Order: sequence, then structure tokens, then C-alpha cells
Amino acid sequence: MSAAAEQIVVAIDGPAGSGKSSVSREAARQLGFDYQDTGAAYRALAWRCIHEGIDTLEPSDVIDSLDSFEWSIGINPADYFVRVGSHDVTEAIREPHVTSVVSSVARIPEVRGYLVEQFRAIIAQSTQRGIIVEGRDITTVVAPQARVRILLTASEEARISRRSAELTGVSAQATATELSFRDTQDLRVVDFMNAADGVTTIDSTDLDFEQTVHAVVDLVQASTPD
Ligand code: C5P
Repeated sequence: MSAAAEQIVVAIDGPAGSGKSSVSREAARQLGFDYQDTGAAYRALAWRCIHEGIDTLEPSDVIDSLDSFEWSIGINPADYFVRVGSHDVTEAIREPHVTSVVSSVARIPEVRGYLVEQFRAIIAQSTQRGIIVEGRDITTVVAPQARVRILLTASEEARISRRSAELTGVSAQATATELSFRDTQDLRVVDFMNAADGVTTIDSTDLDFEQTVHAVVDLVQASTPD
């Protein structure tokens, strides 16, 4: 079944460590929606470049590699996976050596154009009543017409401490450096720190995980006539 006309698209943007992946996935689970993690696609491409020895600082090499980039992602929040060809890279794409080069592939306009089309195709293929799509440019580029558009923010301190809790064996100082370096790189491409017109900001600095999920679910339900 292709997406019904009344499909509810929920777009969520935010910086690294804002909790948007885990919050989006849990909110989708509670709502019975699909969930698309777009950062995973940029990470999968970065992983593939490393795996194949493609220099991520050479845009033309990365662009040439797109023709043979085969990836897939699970959009059922209860069955999340990321694959590149026959490799399950769900865990591998979170490793620091992938994180450290992902911004260099994500800043290449041809890479963005290519993946944005794929993200839209995945939204169109969803058979659920709705889909939550999260990333950096979802509210502005991928799905600016989404029914619900959210910017999920948190103070830098809160983001660093959440990210440190996720990464074992990495110091808080190293996490802080990585996070701020990546945000600086990524902000050259997309502004995900300021809400675009019509986008609702949820500041999760003083909210716990459940409260943040609740805030998202509430916004979606408020926008949905039943
Ligand atoms: O969200 P996550 O931290 O997994 O994203 C990894 C990287 O993918 C970001 O640092 C950014 O470079 C890129 N990204 C992007 N646009 C998106 C989602 C992620 O440029 N919509």
C-alpha cells in the first residue's frame, strides 16, 4: 500500500546529543508510527567510505561511490537496523572513527541531494498512519510540509552529559570536543539551532526521557483530528 493521503509526517530536527533519535523512536512506538533516522544514512555512507578506502575529504570520490552505495534501514521502531550491502552496520556506524568523518560526507551537496530523495521515497513507502523523521534538515528541506515540525534542543551541558552516558570508555572532555566540533561542522550546512517559521521548539534540558517523549506525542495528538 502506498502512503495514504492523510499520512501524518512528523519532522524532528536537533543537534547532536539532543536525544532526538531515542525520543523519536519511542514516540513512534507509542503512536504506532514508523520512524526514520536520517543521520544513520550519512553514517552508513561514512562507514562504507572507510570500509572501501574512499577518502572522505575527496568529494568527487565520495560522489562517484554513490552509484554503488546500497543501504537499507528498518523503519519499524521495534525492528531498527542499518545495513550496507550484506553488512549489518547498526552498531558499527556509531563508532567514533565513523562519527569523526560523517560531517565531511554530509557537507557534500550531491550527497545531500541523493539522500534527501531517498528519505522522501522511504516516507512515501511507509504503510503506517504516520512516520517520525529525524535529522538536521527535516523541518526545512526533507519534509517542510510535515504536519508536525519540531526542533528538539537541550543545553550544551545536557547534551554532553547524555552523550557521555551513551559512550562508555570515552571521557567527558573528549565527548565535549567531538560534539562541539561536529555541531560546528554541521552548522555550516544547515541551521538546526534555530527553529524555522512554524516549527515548535521543545527544550529538553530540564525534561527527562519520558517527559520529552510525552511532549512530542502530545504535539502529534493535538495536531490529529480523531
Ligand atoms: O543524528 P546523527 O548524529 O546520527 O547524525 C550524524 C551526522 O549526519 C550529523 O553529524 C550530520 O553530519 C549528518 N546529518 C545531516 N542531515 C541530517 C541528519 C544527519 O547532515 N538530516
